[in-house]
Amino acid sequence: MPELPEVETTRRGIRAALSGRVVTGFELRQHRLRWPVDRALVRELRGQRVRDVRRRAKYLLIELERGTLIAHLGMSGSLRVLPSGTPWRPHDHYELQLDSGRGLRFNDPRRFGSLHWSTGDPLGHPLLAGLGPEPLERDFDGDYLAGRARGRRVAVKQFLLDQRIVVGVGNIYASEALFRAGIHPRRAAGRVSRERYQRLARAVREVLEEAIRQGGTTLRDYVSAEGTPGYFRQKLFVYERAGEPCRRCGTTIRRVAQGQRSTYFCPSCQT
Ligand SMILES: [Zn+2]
Repeated sequence: MPELPEVETTRRGIRAALSGRVVTGFELRQHRLRWPVDRALVRELRGQRVRDVRRRAKYLLIELERGTLIAHLGMSGSLRVLPSGTPWRPHDHYELQLDSGRGLRFNDPRRFGSLHWSTGDPLGHPLLAGLGPEPLERDFDGDYLAGRARGRRVAVKQFLLDQRIVVGVGNIYASEALFRAGIHPRRAAGRVSRERYQRLARAVREVLEEAIRQGGTTLRDYVSAEGTPGYFRQKLFVYERAGEPCRRCGTTIRRVAQGQRSTYFCPSCQT
């Protein structure tokens, strides 16, 4: 599943190809994505210039002159820039065609992706309103986490996955960040000290930035017809390593279920 680093890498990969270009057409082959795509977009988008491509949480915001396309990659989606006339493949659902002779093509076998059009402030769209801060921005730090955690009995891992607390920290990155910060995933959020939250905020930033750096090496894949953008493999300390020795202390990594998801941790390094 595309996580925040993949979405950010997609943004960087497609931004240069889109910014400043004029939309010459929008082809919609499958409007039944996670939510139905508005067929009126076929007429609405034509003639508008792309101002910028931004990101909020795992949504890409393609800013046009009269509104913003809000695109989500879902579980299995990818966006790529292709030369116009590239044959449609199975699971290609829409293409935003540009005056450069290229198009932004969306492929998604499982169709959990989505595309919305917003003519107001996109950050106020129901999908985006109420989301917590971005983990890579300045307002996300240990003091913020400690403040939000005060008195909370929910496990710190669940707390970190809550999109109202911070966006885009998926299961892999939550497990890895808690390991780096030495915090047991089942500890109550309200019982983690401010100092440890400072370590945790730094660790979250580190694991995401490392993944984005790794993604940088795949950037050309977003503007070529060959291959499919892959998901990033970084060196993982605990995620999907149950039964293997901790890279730091040798203790066997354990797996537990939390909220129907697997959590991996080292019982010696994390307390
Ligand atoms: Zn360990």
